[in-house]
Amino acid sequence: MLEQMRLLIKLQAVDKTVFLLEKEMEEIPRKLEKFAQEEKEAGMEFEKLSTDLARLKGQRKTLEDETETVKLRMRKAESKLMSSTNQREHRAAGAELDEGRDIIKSNEDIILEIMEKQEALEPKAAALEAAFNARRSAHAAAGEELARRQEEALKILREITSNRAETESLVDQVLIREYNFIRSRRQGVGISPVSKGNCGVCHMQIPPQQFNELLRGDKLMHCPSCKRIIYWADNESLHA
Ligand SMILES: [Zn+2]
Repeated sequence: MLEQMRLLIKLQAVDKTVFLLEKEMEEIPRKLEKFAQEEKEAGMEFEKLSTDLARLKGQRKTLEDETETVKLRMRKAESKLMSSTNQREHRAAGAELDEGRDIIKSNEDIILEIMEKQEALEPKAAALEAAFNARRSAHAAAGEELARRQEEALKILREITSNRAETESLVDQVLIREYNFIRSRRQGVGISPVSKGNCGVCHMQIPPQQFNELLRGDKLMHCPSCKRIIYWADNESLHA
């Protein structure tokens, strides 16, 4: 029995690490997906504001161009006004100048409103862009770290599992099936050391009579609470 337990303890040391590393690696694609999603959202927010700003800029340009055209027309109307010799031409040039002044005034008012909007939005857009860039570079660094960690985990897995099969082959078939069954349902842990009368994994107390039996170490026993295979942690011959 002792030799069998010694082998299971050896297997468990490997299997616990395998369990944790595999769990960690399973998380990696989810983490990367989360990064991508966050980046996409931050990018969309920034893009929306940029589009708003571009539209305002376009509106302002149209109005400024129109103002320039009107000013040009007004200069011609002014010279006509100076040079005209008849009343009709004089009146027409005067009306054109009035109309031009109205358009320019109206455009200037709208341009002012647009400028106020631009001034309010520009710092927001700059902040969003900075936040987006910061997030992207943080994600890039984190992604590299994850890739490095994955490589490291695979290396450890290869190393520690290289002679696992050999150890497993030395364990009694029934026992190994039971051990594998328990650990597959109990967070990768199928065997638990009992110290000072308590299960080392679930920490529940082992009834005194069972603990006494466990000290003898001559039969297979289970934690009454978590059902893991138990062994007496202070049995020095197990760790020899
Ligand atoms: Zn237990």
